[in-house]
Order: sequence, then C-alpha cells, then structure tokens
Amino acid sequence: MVSRAEQRAWPRPTALCAAALVLLCASGAARADWVTRITDGIMGTRITVELWADDPQEAESAIDAVLDEMRHIDESMSTYKPTSEVSQVNAHAADGPMPISEELFDLLETARQYSELTEGAFDITYASVGYLYDFRKRQRPSDSAIAAALPAVNYEHVLLDRDHHTVQFSRKGVRIDLGGIAKGYAVDRGIDILKARGVTRAYVGAGGDSRIIGDRFGKPWVVGIRDPSKGPDDVITRVPLVDAAISTSGDYERFFDEGGQRYHHIIDPHTGHSASKVRSATVIGPYATRTDGLSKTAFVLGPEKAMEIYDRIGDVDAIIVKLDGTVLYSKGMRPAPKSAPARSEPR
Ligand code: ADP
Ligand code: MG
Repeated sequence: MVSRAEQRAWPRPTALCAAALVLLCASGAARADWVTRITDGIMGTRITVELWADDPQEAESAIDAVLDEMRHIDESMSTYKPTSEVSQVNAHAADGPMPISEELFDLLETARQYSELTEGAFDITYASVGYLYDFRKRQRPSDSAIAAALPAVNYEHVLLDRDHHTVQFSRKGVRIDLGGIAKGYAVDRGIDILKARGVTRAYVGAGGDSRIIGDRFGKPWVVGIRDPSKGPDDVITRVPLVDAAISTSGDYERFFDEGGQRYHHIIDPHTGHSASKVRSATVIGPYATRTDGLSKTAFVLGPEKAMEIYDRIGDVDAIIVKLDGTVLYSKGMRPAPKSAPARSEPR
C-alpha cells in the first residue's frame, strides 16, 4: 500500500510575513467553498471528487493526491494491463506460492470474506470464465468453452498464506479479476486520504461506487438511484446519506442483447453465464469496498435470497429492482409497520 503521509513545514513567520498573511486573508485570497473535479479515464470510469475546503489550493492538491492513489490502484490491479500485479498473479500463481504486496494480499483476503458472506455469489475467480467474454465486441463463449473453464471458478482455489504473504492457485486455469471490488476500494482509499488531510465534508465517486464523509451543513448528501428501464438521468428514488458508502450494479452498464437475451458483465460463478436475476441492486453501508463487493449478490442469487443475506449482515441496506420493475427495500429502509393511528403529542 502506498500511503503517502505528508509533512508540511511552515516557515516561522517574520513580522513582515505575518502582516502579508493578514492582508491575504483580508483580501479573501483563500475563501472557503465547495471544490469539485470530474476526471475520466482512471479505472475505465468517471471519478468525481467534491469537498468543502477552507483553501481552494489545498483542495486541489488533496484531489490530486486522491487521483494519484486511484491511478496507482489501476496500475496494480487492472487485468487490462499485463504489467499489473494482478496480471502477474494470473500468469504465475498456478506454478507455486507467489509473494505479493501487502495491499493486494489484504484485498484478496477481503474478497474471500465477501465470497463467504454471499455464499459464493461474489467470487473473483469468475474471471476464469469471465475473460472469455468481450461485451464491447459482443462476444460470448460457447457452452462447451464455459464448461471447460468452469471448474477453475471457485474462490477456494485462491490459497493465501498470511505468514509468508503469498498467493497460490490450487490448479491451472484459475484467473482472478478485482473489477467487482477495486472501484469501491479506490473510493475508500480516496476518502482515507481526504480524512488524513483534515477534510470533513466530501463525496468521492468512481462509476457506480461512492462514499461520503460528513453532511452538507445540516443537510444530507442526496444520491439518485437510476431507473434501469430508463435513461441515465431517470431515478427510481433518491437516498439521503451522511457518512456512508453506496454502490449500484446494473445490467445496463456493460452488455449486449442477442436473441432476446441480455448478456452483461456480472457472471454467475456457478454457471459461467451472465447473472440476470435482477435489473439492478444498490447496497448502502459503511465502506465502498463492502458495498461494491456485495452489490453483485442479487444478480446471482436472486432478489429474495440476496435480501435475506443483506438483512442478516446487519451493517448494510439494499434497494433491488426486480426483473418486473418492482422495487424491494431491506429491513432498515422499509417504513415502520402501521399500528395504532398516531396521536399528535403536545410539543
Ligand atoms: P462496475 O464495474 O461498473 O463498478 P459492478 O460493481 O457491478 O460494476 O461490478 C461488475 C464487475 O464485477 C464486472 O465488470 C466484473 O469485473 C466483476 N464481476 C463480475 N461477476 C462477478 C462475480 N460473480 N463476483 C465478483 N466480481 C464479479
Ligand atoms: Mg462497482
């Protein structure tokens, strides 16, 4: 993990210097305000950072640090880059234990926890079959190609040794891909960086994964959840959030339609086919790594089973759009059951 703790050395102000500072402040050179930056192209998605800052220059430098960290995560975890650490693991981990960075090791352990929590619906070895799909080129593997690759899909094939910090695949043909968790992780790292710089109100988003710190001066941040059957600006609901993460997975993100069927980027690890049991799933929780990892579950296990898991986990909420367009809400988001009519109390 490249955590770059930064040290600032302020010169001891001379009387002249102090006078100049007072003058600067009086002229309003550093004015507190919201600062927003939108950047395309890191991790193949749009990154949005918005924060409240006393000094716009400090805000810009904090945003630079967030984007640098995201570029680093992209460089080390993308399977599109043959030099990335994950690509190296895919090339060599079937040959024997392979030492890896602490950052990747920790994330592989986290991924394993999500596989266990979701009864195998989240599984980074989906890629053993997933690499045969190319959604941009409308390519999908034949049934026989899927059947041949499928035995390599199982998170238990990824052997992690904490004492030696190594990873090994238990058989040939296993591939991993962190596309289902890396954006959420990058958002969390971005938030860590902002917090370390003293930022108390901010939004960091990477595609469908976002996290918020603080509020907007007494008001929550409001995140819209897209209606899967309509355009990107149509929402089914808006969720008010303070100090929370939110991830949405949708079948409209990367897909092609063929013969009346939709093939899209979430793969059922049990079948190797596109997982199509819902239209979209949104998970709200404390960390974006967690909400990202858990938002795939409903596609694989179906809405009812996934909701059972979300309700059991306890620290997350969920909104699922079913295939027929109806919307399911987790326990924490459902209105309290109607009991006796409310009486107005004296204030
Ligand atoms: P986005 O990539 O826009 O954040 P999602 O959060 O919905 O979209 O994640 C989809 C990505 O998750 C896929 O592109 C793929 O990289 C990865 N993935 C697909 N199926 C699975 C699965 N069963 N378990 C874990 N990751 C998966
Ligand atoms: Mg995601």
